[in-house]
Amino acid sequence: MKAWEENIRKVVPYVPGEQPQKAGIIKLNTNENPYPPSEAVERAWKDMEIEKLRLYPDPQAKLLVNALAKNYGLMPEQIFVGVGSDDVLAMSFLTFFNSKKPILFPDITYSFYDVWADLFRIPYKKMKLDENFHIKKEDYYQENGGIIFPNPNAPTGVEEEQEILEDILKKNSDVIVIIDEAYVDFGAKSARTLLEKYENLLVVQTFSKSRSMAGIRIGYAMGHSKLIKALQDVKYSYNSYTMNMPSILLGTKAIEEKEYFEMTIEKIIQTREKSKKELKKLGFSFPDSKANFIFATHEKYRAKDIFLYLKSKDIYVRYFPLERIDNYLRITIGTEEQMEALFHALYEFQKERE
Ligand SMILES: *Cc1c(COP(=O)(O)O)cnc(C)c1O
Repeated sequence: MKAWEENIRKVVPYVPGEQPQKAGIIKLNTNENPYPPSEAVERAWKDMEIEKLRLYPDPQAKLLVNALAKNYGLMPEQIFVGVGSDDVLAMSFLTFFNSKKPILFPDITYSFYDVWADLFRIPYKKMKLDENFHIKKEDYYQENGGIIFPNPNAPTGVEEEQEILEDILKKNSDVIVIIDEAYVDFGAKSARTLLEKYENLLVVQTFSKSRSMAGIRIGYAMGHSKLIKALQDVKYSYNSYTMNMPSILLGTKAIEEKEYFEMTIEKIIQTREKSKKELKKLGFSFPDSKANFIFATHEKYRAKDIFLYLKSKDIYVRYFPLERIDNYLRITIGTEEQMEALFHALYEFQKERE
């Protein structure tokens, strides 16, 4: 080994779901929205003036921050925007998790958390979810350097009640508690309403799932202005342009399109509820999901075999070869037609094996 190799930062990177570039596949593996952004966003995209790209974007992304503040009834000082919620979350780890004590998160959760903790050299402890994939609140009563979990959780889709969140917030008033609400719009209750009561709460959301804009990379945090200021100071010490100009423009447009947003969400929720019934009929069981995916296991067949079979039929779902969940598939809710194609393939899979 060369001397300089010893000084290379070695990390095991996060592995995102496959993004196959093949046409005609059914993509139910990365929780994207099956519906496109609204027509108003499309018009804004087409009307964009290329000349504007000459200039640096507004470092504070005020247009978008103000639209988000108005939408949620918050002050602009309570909102931080970033390049996808992954950027917002990474900045939050860097900003708030500086204690020598370990941060806490569930053992089954978004697999980026331990990657950031390792990257930033933050000690951490994974708390085991119960057998129904619920958080045991007592696990979070111990001393710690901060707490983070998604609600609803990923990849399980399980929602925790507000009382659990409040209990954890109250018992941890000396650290920052981050709630990652990537999937909250699909029928769960947001912790945003708790912001007035708890200064140590940071709520993080994204445009990637419920707002049909994973490709534009917008995420945001909502919290006390002191937390937002701290996040901005870190962000501006790293790269002061939080967001590119097209993202600011199109993101603002998307936020203004409330009706379209609610309509697509409603369609996805309906398809999800119908899909729960179909999957049950096909022999699957799953924790009740409040997200745009279902985390399912089959009574007879191995998840990995089903995963490979579906892939051979150009239907992509997500399989995690990880402890406790290696017999589960995470299936994103697509359009009605896509789900019909999935159920048909699952039926064929079983028929071939009877
Ligand atoms: C998808 C996802 C994110 C990241 O989304 P961005 O595309 O970076 O905004 C964050 N947390 C969870 C739990 C997710 O599933």
